[in-house]
Amino acid sequence: MEFLFKNAVEIAKKICLMKVEEGDIIVDATMGNGNDTAFLCSLVGETGKVYAFDVQETALNNTRKCLLEAQYQQRAQLILDGHENMDRYVTAKVKLILFNLGYLPKGNHAITTKKETTLKAVEKSLDALEESGVLLLVLYPGHLSGREEKEALEYFTSNLNQKRYTVTKHSFLNQINNPPELICIEKNR
Ligand code: SAH
Repeated sequence: MEFLFKNAVEIAKKICLMKVEEGDIIVDATMGNGNDTAFLCSLVGETGKVYAFDVQETALNNTRKCLLEAQYQQRAQLILDGHENMDRYVTAKVKLILFNLGYLPKGNHAITTKKETTLKAVEKSLDALEESGVLLLVLYPGHLSGREEKEALEYFTSNLNQKRYTVTKHSFLNQINNPPELICIEKNR
C-alpha cells in the first residue's frame, strides 16, 4: 500500500500533481540527478516548459540522460548556473517552483545549497510566481548547513505578509534523525 505522506519529496510531488497543468511554465531550482525535472516535464506536457538549474556539470549530464530516456528533452531548459540568478533566465511568470535542497546523495557532499544563496533565490522566486502560484521548499535539516538553511527559511517565510502569501509547513513529528520537511508558499490573488 502506498503512503499518502511518505516523505517531504513525495508530498511536494503530490502538490505538483494538484497544481501543474499541460502548458504551464515552471522551475526546478535544483536539478540534482534529474528525477524531479523529468517528473515536472511529464506534468507540463508538450506545450509547457521547465526551467531547471544546477551549479554542477554532473547534475546537468545526469538530468540530460534522464530526459532523453523519457523523450522530454524539448520540454526543459537546463541551466548551469545558481538559482539565485534565475531572473536572468526566467522572465515570464511561472506557476510553480520546486527547490529540493541539500546535496546529491551519491555526489559531492561539499556542494550543497547554502542559506545565503537559497534566500536570494526564494526572494526572486516570489517575484517570478504568477498569482496563485506555488513555491515548494524541501528542507534537509539532518546536516548542519541544512539545519541552518531550514532555520533561515522558516524565519524568512514566517514573516511574509499573510495577505500576499499563505505559508504552511509539513514535518514528520515522530521520526528520528531530522528527516526532510516541506514548506509550501502560495501566492494569494
Ligand atoms: N537532497 C536531495 C537532493 C538535492 S540535489 C535528495 O536527497 O534527494 C541539490 C542540488 O542542488 C545539487 O545537485 C547541487 O549541485 C545543487 N545546487 C547547489 N547550490 C545550488 C545553487 N546555488 N543553484 C542551483 N543548484 C544548486
